[in-house]
Formats: sequence, structure tokens, C-alpha cells
Amino acid sequence: MTGRFPGLVDVAIVGSGPTGAAYARILSESAPGATIAMFEAGPVVSDPPGAHVKNIADLEQRGRAQRASQGPSSSAETVTSPGAVKAGQRSGRPGTHLLERGYQAEGEDGLPVAAMSTNVGGMASHWTGACPRPRGSERITFLPDLDDLFDEAERLLGVTTDAFDGSPFAEIVRSRLAAVVDEGRQPEDRVQRMPLAVHRRDDGNLVWSGSDVVLGRASTENPHFSLFPEALVTRILLDDGRAAGVSVRDLQTGDTVDIAARFVVVAGDAIRSPQLLWASGIRPEALGRWLNDQAQIVFATRLRDVAAAGQGVEAAGNSTGLGEYSGVTWVPFTDEQPFHGQVMQLDASPVPLAEDDPVTPGSIVGLGLFCAKDLQASDRVEFSGDDVDAYGMPVPSIRYTLTDRDREVFARAAERILVLGRAVGDPLDERSFRMPLGSSLHYQGTTRMGVDDDGESVCDTNSEVWGAAGVHVAGNGVIPTSTACNPTLTSVALAVRGARHIAAQLAG
Ligand SMILES: Cc1cc2nc3c(=O)[nH]c(=O)nc-3n(C[C@H](O)[C@H](O)[C@H](O)COP(=O)(O)OP(=O)(O)OC[C@H]3O[C@@H](n4cnc5c(N)ncnc54)[C@H](O)[C@@H]3O)c2cc1C
Repeated sequence: MTGRFPGLVDVAIVGSGPTGAAYARILSESAPGATIAMFEAGPVVSDPPGAHVKNIADLEQRGRAQRASQGPSSSAETVTSPGAVKAGQRSGRPGTHLLERGYQAEGEDGLPVAAMSTNVGGMASHWTGACPRPRGSERITFLPDLDDLFDEAERLLGVTTDAFDGSPFAEIVRSRLAAVVDEGRQPEDRVQRMPLAVHRRDDGNLVWSGSDVVLGRASTENPHFSLFPEALVTRILLDDGRAAGVSVRDLQTGDTVDIAARFVVVAGDAIRSPQLLWASGIRPEALGRWLNDQAQIVFATRLRDVAAAGQGVEAAGNSTGLGEYSGVTWVPFTDEQPFHGQVMQLDASPVPLAEDDPVTPGSIVGLGLFCAKDLQASDRVEFSGDDVDAYGMPVPSIRYTLTDRDREVFARAAERILVLGRAVGDPLDERSFRMPLGSSLHYQGTTRMGVDDDGESVCDTNSEVWGAAGVHVAGNGVIPTSTACNPTLTSVALAVRGARHIAAQLAG
């Protein structure tokens, strides 16, 4: 032992979000004798560790958990749900913290509200849990086992489609959208319930999946698995081009120690995984490049002709007041309509309504269309030697520009969302709104996967970094395609593949 840490493990995992947790789970199931240490820079904010903070019924306690996840910005003001970030406003969502600087280079679009979470569970202690499978060009064509990996990722994340079946008006929303969307589409591309990482307990309350669910009992009851909160990995150690361990700064004591490991999994999010690789001198040409965010067009509408049907309807989210929304519908991406639609029935209005006009829960409908980015190698997160962030790590600087094709897609999405919104009800506003770049919280590409070490990818199809054997990357940064759909299911699926690869070597 070195302080509270072991001196030697088989696998060191950096980051406790759902992709790091997926490695721990698959390794615990498939290589039960292997020693696994998970290092997380942030604190434990929920019980069990990694649980979604929305499962905390007490709102004050939940607020404390969110603030404790906000790293150096624990006292910063955050946007209130279901309100949207306004143009020009730089506020994070509760539980997240923004880049303090370096988010927009002069003359570029930047990612002004690029954010992260620093807590046991990562962003998945705060997420919405939407877990759609990618469609058409969003899919990774070079992985023959992709659908099997999605099945496994759904198992790990506890994905369901029926948790909101009792919600008021969900069927009405779906049928009105279907009337303007479904014609000519394959059955799997039609309007449907959004797959969500949530389940309803026998007492009717919702339980949102966080990393606790991904870890599962297989990891938490594994005597060879340990989770270390408030432990920042500052460097990956290599020996002759192979993983040899990690340097860890104990944020409780300030001490830094080296821990030997046969495999290192870097699951630190799409900004901080490249940061750690860069700080460790592991710098494949594509590191930090091909950065892409899913720009989001939003619009709100109010269900028409449902007031009488909704009388007496209670917020369906949870009897403990956990619900902000009570139904999520999916309008899948297609290559012809390259937007991913997430349609949420809200229990409150995002815009002020007249005082004598109470909202029937579920009758305000927030529509969001996520757009896939026109990928460019020049969109990137970069680092320089001297400047450090609040954790003493190299400061990330974002270089990011929209292309003409991006603007064309946004214009089409803005038109499309009006069609969808008007089909569902009476718009609350005349125009749609494009959220500030970065607000999707879905950043991809910075540690991207590829088939060849051709300078356009950082890792191979098992997520093993080119030229650094035994070092794996995990998270949305690994996704190589331009996607519009929520990415976590995909990045957990890719983590499953990488973990199986490590398990096979540990067994061999
Ligand atoms: C409000 C909100 C809503 C969202 N909704 C959805 C949704 O509906 N669907 C969807 O697919 N996605 C959604 N997301 C995004 C989703 O949460 C992320 O895609 C997912 O959590 C990524 O998992 P990860 O394991 O790669 O990284 P993260 O969850 O970001 O976890 C990374 C962890 O690594 C830690 N870390 C980083 N560097 C170091 C280091 N050097 N040493 C130690 N620890 C380190 C960080 O502190 C962090 O806890 C949402 C996110 C938020 C905040």
C-alpha cells in the first residue's frame, strides 16, 4: 500500500463515469481475479457512490450534491431546469462546471458552454439518461459486433422504454409527431418511446441509472475492486512504450504516489482524457482533434385540446417530487433528416405563463433537435506546456469553427422543429432557439477510434492507444462518427469491447 492506495494493480481506471464503470463491471464479471483500482478526481456525492443525484429526494441535499460535483465552480450560478441557457449567457447545468478560459479563440465559434462534472459517477450522476442507438451514418461501420455491444451496454446502463408509460398525454405526443414524421420511414426510424436509463420501483418512484448501476454488484462486491475518490491521476507511466502505471495525487493529503498497473484505462471525459494523455507525453497526431459537439435547436409548444383530459393529473415523475418531465419521445436521426429529436413533456413551463394559467403536468412539450457536426481535424482541444488549470493540469484550449454545411443543417433543423412543434400543439414562441455551442454536453472525437494508425485516430478498435500498448481510452471522445444522438450508450458499448480485450489478456 502507498498511503490509502495499493502499490500495484492489474488495471488502473481513471474516472468513475459510466464508461470507466463499464470497464470495472466487465472486468469484474470476466476476470474476477484481477485487481482493479478506479481513481476519481471528484468526491462521493451520492449513496451508493455514483448514484444519480435525482434519486436524492431531499432537494437541499440534492443541491449540495450538485454543487459538490462542480469542481472549482461549486459556488457558480447554474441554469434552472427546465430553463434553457440564453444566447450569450455562460452558465452550466447543475452538477457541471464550465471551462474557465480557453473556450473560444478569437474569430472562431468555440464551445462557450463546454462543461464537465467532477464527482464519483461523473456526468451520469446528472444526466437525462436518453440512450438511443445510432442510425444510418451515425453507426460505426467497422465494428462487426456493434449490435451485440449495444445489447450489453443497455444491460449495464439498465435501459428501459416503459418507465413513463403511465404518463399523461405521451401517446398523444407520439401520435401527433408520427403523423408528420413516419411516412416513408423504416419501422425502427419511426417516432417511438425514448430508451432511458431509468426504472420504476415497486413503490412507483423512479430510479435513474448512474455509474452505481453500471458498476453493479459484480464490481462493488468484488473484493479485488476499489474506488478511490478525490484522487487525481496526473500522469500515465509507460515502460518501453507499454502501460506501467499511474501517478496519482491524493487530493485529501496533497501527496503524489506512483502505482504500478499492467493496464491503464483513461475514462476522464472528452476534454480531460486528451489532457491526461498529453500531460503524459502520449500524443498521437489525432489527439484532441476531430472534436465535435451536437448543436441543439430547441422549441416549446403546449399540447392542444388536452386541458379537460388532464384535469386532476399529478406530475408523473415521482411521488417524491423528482419529476421535471414526465415522458420522453424519440424522433430518430436519418441521413435524409440528419437531426436527433428528443421531445420532453415538461411538468413546468420553460417560459413564464399567465398566473391564472396553471400548467397541466406533461402538457408543455419541449422539443430539441440535436445536429450532427461536419467533422474537421482542425476542431480540437489543445494544450500548451506552461498554463495549468485549477487541478494543476495543462489548460485545455478549444479551437472550433462551424462550416457552411453546419449552418445549412441548423437552418433545416430550425424549419423542421417548427413543423414538429406545430403538429404537437400551440407554440409558446414563434421562433426556435439555438443553444450556445457546448450545451449538448456531448463532446466527441478527441480520442477517436480507427482501424489503422493513419494519423486520423488515437486508438484501435479495442480502444487501445496507438503506440502505447495497454493504455485504453474510454468515453465519448472515442466515437469516430459524426452523431446527433445522445452518445453514452455508444461509448459504453465501445468500453465493453475494450474491457473484453483486457479481460482476454488477463486470462491468457
Ligand atoms: C445534465 C446532463 C444531461 C445529459 N443527458 C444525457 C443523455 O440524456 N444521454 C446521453 O447519452 N448523455 C447525456 N449526458 C452526457 C453523459 O452524462 C455523458 O456522456 C457520460 O457521463 C460520459 O461518461 P464518461 O464515463 O465518458 O465521462 P464522465 O461521466 O464525464 O466522467 C468522467 C470522470 O472522470 C473524472 N476525471 C477526469 N480526469 C481525471 C483525472 N485525471 N483523474 C481522475 N479522475 C478524472 C472526472 O472527474 C469525471 O468524474 C448528459 C450530461 C449532463 C450533465
